[in-house]
Amino acid sequence: MINKIFGLLVIATVVFACTQDVVETNNKADLTNLQEALTSFEVDNGEFRPKGIVRDCKAMDVLSDKLKQNPSLANKLAVIEKHTQDAISYKKGGNGGGKPGSGGGGGGTDPTPVAGVINIPVVVHVVYANNLENISESQIASQIAVLNQDFNATNSDLNPPAAFAGVVADSDFNFVLDQVIRKQGDRTTWGTSDAVKSFSPVVSPDKKLNIWVAQIGGGILGYAQFPGGSPSTDGVVVSPQFFGNTGYVSAPYDGGRTMTHEVGHYLNLRHIWGDGRCNRDDFVSDTPTSDRPNYGCPSSVTHCRSLDMHMNYMDYVEDDCMFMFTEGQKERMRALFAVGGARESMVQ
Ligand SMILES: [Zn+2]
Repeated sequence: MINKIFGLLVIATVVFACTQDVVETNNKADLTNLQEALTSFEVDNGEFRPKGIVRDCKAMDVLSDKLKQNPSLANKLAVIEKHTQDAISYKKGGNGGGKPGSGGGGGGTDPTPVAGVINIPVVVHVVYANNLENISESQIASQIAVLNQDFNATNSDLNPPAAFAGVVADSDFNFVLDQVIRKQGDRTTWGTSDAVKSFSPVVSPDKKLNIWVAQIGGGILGYAQFPGGSPSTDGVVVSPQFFGNTGYVSAPYDGGRTMTHEVGHYLNLRHIWGDGRCNRDDFVSDTPTSDRPNYGCPSSVTHCRSLDMHMNYMDYVEDDCMFMFTEGQKERMRALFAVGGARESMVQ
């Protein structure tokens, strides 16, 4: 009996000692992580961000401002979201199919998906304050080339990990340079108030993607307007040094991926982490949930109990470290061009 009790005490002590070791080891790891975080991060506007220039896209902030200014925009976005889900269900269900309750199913108003390549004419407004910002034709051509590679999965750096190899999408968009408008601006930075779009007015937004290449300032790489907003401000704004992959470009955002990301927003994609906690979604089923953006060039990251798809164009990693859209994102983007979709008028 005594031996048994002694034995139990020994076991208990060993277990406790092991547990304590683990706890201490974890604490050390936490401390190391914390120290790393404190030296490599800084507080910016009340948020922890990595130090130095990091990807900073203002599409969601601009959307939030526009929703405050114009509450009826929320209804428009809801209608587009409903149509998007209907179009995706319809495609999955085939002709005459559709998910129950989708509003489709043979009523004659099903959002028929578009087959094949979707051509998108591009108008580039170069609004400059100096010669550097008056970017070259070859820099503009390099951006169009990157968009075509990235939206057709022909980019040479496409190298998905096994977990995501099955969902890589060729989205079948063809971007064609339509015209370049050059205007010397009357200010050095334009912010995110859309003033640049008043200075160089939008051209045929129902038919063409408008891109304003102008210095935004404040370390902001770019911002896009989501489908459903005012036609007069429809399009994407990007700072010149993050546009294209040759000429006046700035590493590590010198691969043209800022535009790939922003055109993703223009085509209704949300950030891969859903701009919220684990339960906030990006409305795409084959992108894992996450609760934060990834920065730099991570190798493997787990959040919300699953691997992050940090190599997706809709995360915040560096240009060289993002290389894919998913099938779910492709369906979401292409739904806009289906019958009744927010960008149906662009289909030629
Ligand atoms: Zn963004």
